[in-house]
Amino acid sequence: MSNERGTLYLVATPIGNLGDMSARAIETLKKVDLIAAEDTRHSAPLLRHFSIATTTTSFHEHNEAEKVGQLVDRLRAGEDIALISDAGTPLVNDPGYRLVRAARDDGLRVVAVPGPCAAIAALSVSGLPTDEFVFAGFPPPRREARRRWFQERANERRTQIFYESPHRIVESLEDMAAVYGGDRAVAVARELTKRYETVLDGPLVAVVERVRDDPNQQKGEFVVLLRGREKREDEMPDEAVRTLEILASELPPRQAAALASQITGLAKNRLYRWLVNSGSGSSS
Ligand code: SAM
Repeated sequence: MSNERGTLYLVATPIGNLGDMSARAIETLKKVDLIAAEDTRHSAPLLRHFSIATTTTSFHEHNEAEKVGQLVDRLRAGEDIALISDAGTPLVNDPGYRLVRAARDDGLRVVAVPGPCAAIAALSVSGLPTDEFVFAGFPPPRREARRRWFQERANERRTQIFYESPHRIVESLEDMAAVYGGDRAVAVARELTKRYETVLDGPLVAVVERVRDDPNQQKGEFVVLLRGREKREDEMPDEAVRTLEILASELPPRQAAALASQITGLAKNRLYRWLVNSGSGSSS
């Protein structure tokens, strides 16, 4: 039985190097009935380069809500549609989530044509742990909100991946050093797959200085990767810290430590010392 409903293809495109366009991406973009592109003018040279003559329509964050319905109707009517963004993998910090959600809710077929993604390319070359990681997108543009945002991630143990613009790369790295400490390992991947590709890595204090001192290192596109917070051997377990903090907000330190000791099985003195040194506790 032939499937009369269309398929939505999510097609990754290069993040700078046209050689990274996959054969399957070209083939898919040629055969579909319509290409929904984040910016049709931006994608025109890419499509021309690969002799892709398929009709395009714009699909960006400002018209996504109204376009979703139209595109789903066309898929239902049997047209195949490919979604591309300006660069890399659609939906990764780019529009498309609502369209995929709506297509899936409708039982339509959604197919990935995978390829370049700046976050993953940067992670693979960073030299930072790759077993667990968190992609956090762009930090807020304003300093105060950005510091708070970094602060909220201060206890993250996994490698964190951020995107950052050239206008804010220095400020953002400075804020990271202020929040996470200058010793924390960082990698800054710039202009990946392009002529001036560089990857700087080392402790935050050193990398901030290198980027601040060299205007060339402030140009282009950036992915910033931060090593997760490491646990010291003598560190208090997270669960004990939570228990202590709750008890200490209501009780004097000695009593809080005694109760926490019964709950966690850890030594009362160790818990008491931690409380006193951390400055947590009730003000009474
Ligand atoms: N969907 C894209 C992807 O799969 O990577 C990301 C889109 S996001 C709007 C654009 C940001 O990705 C840039 O501002 C930059 O932070 C990062 N980026 C894109 N291309 C890059 C490259 N060649 N080198 C480093 N970072 C890049």
